[in-house]
Amino acid sequence: CGIVGYIGQNDTKEILLNGLEKLEYRGYDSAGIATLNENGVEVTKVKGRIASLREAVDESVKATHGIGHTRWATHGAPSEENAHPHQSTSGRFTIVHNGVIENYVDVRDEYLSDVEFKSETDTEIIVQLMEVLNNEMNDVAAAFRKAVELLTGSYAIAMIDREDHDTIYVAKNKSPLLVGIGDDFNVVASDSMAALHVTDQFLELMDKETVIVRRDGVEIQKPDGKKVEREPFTAELDT
Ligand code: GLU
Repeated sequence: CGIVGYIGQNDTKEILLNGLEKLEYRGYDSAGIATLNENGVEVTKVKGRIASLREAVDESVKATHGIGHTRWATHGAPSEENAHPHQSTSGRFTIVHNGVIENYVDVRDEYLSDVEFKSETDTEIIVQLMEVLNNEMNDVAAAFRKAVELLTGSYAIAMIDREDHDTIYVAKNKSPLLVGIGDDFNVVASDSMAALHVTDQFLELMDKETVIVRRDGVEIQKPDGKKVEREPFTAELDT
């Protein structure tokens, strides 16, 4: 299973598909991407192989901002409905997640009793929680930190917001995730292999950090919102 994300100037769909192909070795049962352009969010997902996803994706519609996922099902059978990305009820937030949310039943019962779920995954509670919290707080970065704080378990998360064409929100705990740094773009990946076709500069992330990834910069935050400075390292193909 794995995650990729890209925000920059070039065709995101090809970069995401290429990245997901590089993550195939990690194993998966379904795959999907979500991209954002002036027409809104477009989600394509399939049960089965990246080759089938590539066929399903409409590469004639361009975007320069998106997230992708290969799934190894833990909650909910492998199916198109349970494949990621998942969206909140209004469609505002779209998420990909690797890992297991251990307290998803508690979070659902406490915060999401009014929500009608579209999948059987633990992942959908994250994106639905995000919508509920943002409706209360009206601050996406703060709602994202709060959502992540309420979760227990393992996660690598990348999220896009339909109302914000300049940001990918990222978080990790006990699941691998790196941010790749470019000149006028940035990427997110479970493994540097998935992004070495665009950069060899990566930022390591610590558990429970969240990251605001934009075209022109990256901001790492501790759970209390404090900014962290960190230098990138150079990844090599043969490591
Ligand atoms: N627990 C999530 C699911 O079953 C994510 C699994 C994964 O890491 O791919 O959908």
